[in-house]
Amino acid sequence: METKKRKISIIGSTGSIGTQALEVIEKISDKFEIIALAGGKNTELLRKQCEKFNPKYVCSNDVNFKIDGVKSLYGEEGLEEICSNKENDIILVAVSGKIGLKPTLKAIENGIDIALANKETLVMAGDIVIRKAKERCVNIIPVDSEHCAIHQCIKDINQVDKLIITASGGPFLTKSADEMNFATVTQALSHPRWNMGKKITIDSATLMNKGLEVIEAHHLFGINYDDIEVVIHPQSIVHSAIEYKDGSVIAQLGLPSMHIPIQYAITYPERFEGIKSKSFSFSEAARLDFEKPDFEKFPTLKLAYNMGRLGGSATVCMNAANEEAVFAFLDGKISLGDIYKITEKITQNHNVIKNPSIDEIFEIDCEVRAKTKELIK
Ligand code: MG
Repeated sequence: METKKRKISIIGSTGSIGTQALEVIEKISDKFEIIALAGGKNTELLRKQCEKFNPKYVCSNDVNFKIDGVKSLYGEEGLEEICSNKENDIILVAVSGKIGLKPTLKAIENGIDIALANKETLVMAGDIVIRKAKERCVNIIPVDSEHCAIHQCIKDINQVDKLIITASGGPFLTKSADEMNFATVTQALSHPRWNMGKKITIDSATLMNKGLEVIEAHHLFGINYDDIEVVIHPQSIVHSAIEYKDGSVIAQLGLPSMHIPIQYAITYPERFEGIKSKSFSFSEAARLDFEKPDFEKFPTLKLAYNMGRLGGSATVCMNAANEEAVFAFLDGKISLGDIYKITEKITQNHNVIKNPSIDEIFEIDCEVRAKTKELIK
């Protein structure tokens, strides 16, 4: 018997998560119908994706971009139109940056489930997004490997005592603080385990990525910051774990491939063989190491906890300052160590707003970016 196809749209189909999601969908193409693909500047790839996957709609930033037989949409308005289309069973939000927030909110308003790979959505507006999702009974399935792991481990959130988020430690785990702080862009971009976009790879090198994940986990699972622990696990086999009240620890393990959490998120609650290439072997994994993170060497992680605890606009500010600093590092304007110094300074001078509206969040984001750029100059 043929089962009903799941109707999906991908916001950010030409990025790292988006392209891997299409690889997953290609393997289980009988399970999906693609409603819309949205990409940014890479219209050449977007065109190829449309030819292969036949979406009904395509959205890009280029008003001249058109494909025969596909309805063309543009920019933020186009994204909102896609996310208002109730044909969708699920929308994969795979763009990076603040551009992911409004489409996610639109999808939630329309009662459409979300596979969420956009960090900013929860870091900038976690309180609002989670409250609205609950009101509309919308599922938010995390794509990030750590949150996806926790999602798989949790049976009853009320019985959970603690979340344990693993971190590979990035390329500077065994290097000195000086070697890290004065690393070249190439060194910082060579992540030992995961193949990801540039911004998140730099965040992984400074452990800011883990800090952002702690904030996301706090919102997604409603757990206090004191009960979220980060542990360094260089092999990236244990993707995260939870500890129940009785001391039982449940962890999710697997090879470090983003295909697995992507597939989980877009097919939840079903599971398919799909993208699986080989069976996991404990004996091949051989050893799993764990250690405490060094908060002195990676001060961004502590900063993220502190800003998370402050709440409100504090995480909006930290996120914007960090992102601008990361871009400046990638442009060769500042050192890797400066990213923390700049972000810390900007957050120190920020007056936290308790419950910012979405408009206030975007205003703060713009103000902080301008201030950060000024400071970098
Ligand atoms: Mg992650």
